[in-house]
Amino acid sequence: MDYIVRATAAGERVRAFAATTRDLVEQARSIHNTSPAATAALGRLLTGAAMMGITMKGEADIMTIMVKGDGPIGGITVTADAHGNVKGYVNNPNVLLHARPDGKLDVGGAVGKGTLTVIRDLGLKEPYVGSVELATGEIGDDLTLYYSVSEQTPASVGLGVLLSRENVVEQAGGFMVQLMPDTPDEVIDVLEKNIGAVHSVTDLLKGGMTPEDILNKLLDGLEPEILDRCETKLSCNCSYDRMARALISLGREELSSLIAEGEPVELVCQFCKSKYTFSVDDLKAMLEAAG
Ligand SMILES: [Zn+2]
Repeated sequence: MDYIVRATAAGERVRAFAATTRDLVEQARSIHNTSPAATAALGRLLTGAAMMGITMKGEADIMTIMVKGDGPIGGITVTADAHGNVKGYVNNPNVLLHARPDGKLDVGGAVGKGTLTVIRDLGLKEPYVGSVELATGEIGDDLTLYYSVSEQTPASVGLGVLLSRENVVEQAGGFMVQLMPDTPDEVIDVLEKNIGAVHSVTDLLKGGMTPEDILNKLLDGLEPEILDRCETKLSCNCSYDRMARALISLGREELSSLIAEGEPVELVCQFCKSKYTFSVDDLKAMLEAAG
């Protein structure tokens, strides 16, 4: 089972999260039939979003993270709620790139240069939107930069996806460490040393470490306290009604021209690939309802 663990350390000056997300990243790979580089890019962003999502306080809060770059993947869009549910897709799932010289998948090359945007819909009139230039396109670095530029909480985000020789997801996971204001330098020094010693989250997971073990390693020497554990999974809330609303929002003119074509319309959910078919009679009923 995929899950996220939450912890504090150094007298609540440090907040930390670690996640294992192999099942949901493998499920995303299988739904979107992603190439290795696209699997890694999507899996890293899904993992980061899952951890960021559970930091939201409202039951109905929704966070969307969009990475847009000039690389061959085009873009990545991921949505998370406050309960560990995530969904996402990439614009070009077939992107093929050679591995980097160190053998890692070239996610930065697939993403290229561009921006990372975080939209938090907290049920207020206007959503909160923050945007930064991509640091490296490797996703973990970009989320780290986002926190230091857009939020008042400096953070360090590490994310990883490890594929088997058959390109199936073998390990996936990540961590996020956030500093509260006025964290003493001694604490920051210890954290920097601990984080610097972690070269790959997926290596730790492969070696048998749990997210709890990873947090204890990252927060070693700072009296870590494991708080709770939250299940995380791939979940889409699309429905016939939602898709119908999307069609209605196209406007009367567009609906009329679809009706004139005389063919049923099939819509595919970008996130989960579910298909919804609307007959010409369905479209006529929508046009009437649109008033
Ligand atoms: Zn869906």
